[in-house]
Amino acid sequence: MPHNAQLIKHKPNYKLIYNKSAMYCTNFKIMEKLKTAQELIKANPNVMSGFNQFIHGSGEPKRGDYGDKSQWYAEQQGYDYAKKMAKENGIAFTHIFKCGKSESCFPFMYGGFMVCNACGNKSVDKDWWKIKVEKDGNAFCCHGLDFKDLQSSNNYAFGDTFEEAISNYESVMLALS
Ligand SMILES: [Zn+2]
Repeated sequence: MPHNAQLIKHKPNYKLIYNKSAMYCTNFKIMEKLKTAQELIKANPNVMSGFNQFIHGSGEPKRGDYGDKSQWYAEQQGYDYAKKMAKENGIAFTHIFKCGKSESCFPFMYGGFMVCNACGNKSVDKDWWKIKVEKDGNAFCCHGLDFKDLQSSNNYAFGDTFEEAISNYESVMLALS
């Protein structure tokens, strides 16, 4: 991610920009890999497991699902820590996005697959669900893991907050798909 203040200034309506010409530059994309707890932190196995649930977008640990509440607590700590690192350190993670433009589209993990009741489809998750959100001055930039730069890539969006950048990115990516 280039931290080029000039570029941002030239694009005052930055919220939903994407470069159509860049759509043709897709041949040599290099997809960065997600890093897991094993590469990023040292903690007990339950904390590591919770951390990886955030990284892989498999949802927040639900207290009611755990017989052993201390296991849930440790996983929750790991999950929250990964989220904090995603916000503050720009680590790559998976976010569950809509798979289509339908308002009722809401994919979730079921039986090891990401499914969507609105589309009725299985394995609806996409490569572009793997993202990084990086701070750029006062703005946040959300981009896919094969993002190269603002000129040659189209898979990015800015926002005033972490959440807004992710939501603007979703609009951009759904418009492109
Ligand atoms: Zn859907």
